[in-house]
Amino acid sequence: MSAESGNDPVVVIGLGRFGSSLAVELMRRGTEVLAIDHRPKVVQSLAGELTHVVAADATDMEALRQLGVAEFGRAVVAIGSDLEASILATSLLVELEVADIWAKAVSRQHGRILERIGAKHIVLPEHDMGERVAHLVSGRMLDYMEIDSNFALVKTRPPHEYVGVPLGETRLRRKHGVTIVCVKTQGSEFTYADATTVLQYGDIIVVAGPVDRVERFAELP
Ligand code: ATP
Repeated sequence: MSAESGNDPVVVIGLGRFGSSLAVELMRRGTEVLAIDHRPKVVQSLAGELTHVVAADATDMEALRQLGVAEFGRAVVAIGSDLEASILATSLLVELEVADIWAKAVSRQHGRILERIGAKHIVLPEHDMGERVAHLVSGRMLDYMEIDSNFALVKTRPPHEYVGVPLGETRLRRKHGVTIVCVKTQGSEFTYADATTVLQYGDIIVVAGPVDRVERFAELP
């Protein structure tokens, strides 16, 4: 189907932990969702939370056609462990010309196959979360999010040398190649940081920059 927009309806196939959380969150955000799972029990248990949830086999082309899946511009295949079903369902969505297909993979090889078939976006939840937690466990970061292959946002505490001085006077970007995006002082909300911002002990900051740079910055005493 045609070019997708943020609020176009989405088909979610496979309502395990990943697919059901995704479908419920999409609905909460005002996106219309058609949720499909072949286990009637799963469908029943989600009927109260999702408006359109049906029991059907997503590897059955006829079933997908009858559900009007071809009319959708976006779909998520959230089947993980059953590789055959994941691959077949994805290829049927491609055949139905669903333009924007997101597919969950359990391994990089699985992801590569789904990409070759025609899925535009591959999600590796276990791998991605594992990498993220590794950053949190091994460092002093409070949170970590890689937003591109070599660019990350890190939530951390300000290093000593940046406390009590307006950020504009610290030459922080030149020295460390990172930017402090926003700051939260105890008892208040996050606000944007600018050249006049003076950090205090106990503040929480969000730092943006290349992965190795933000990692090094977060390790400063
Ligand atoms: P999660 O980690 O999200 O809980 P998982 O990686 O263990 O899930 P699976 O259990 O393989 O993934 O699949 C998720 C859901 O997909 C299950 O609820 C399963 O019933 C459903 N599913 C599997 N095959 C099909 C299919 N052919 N058609 C529709 N739904 C399917």
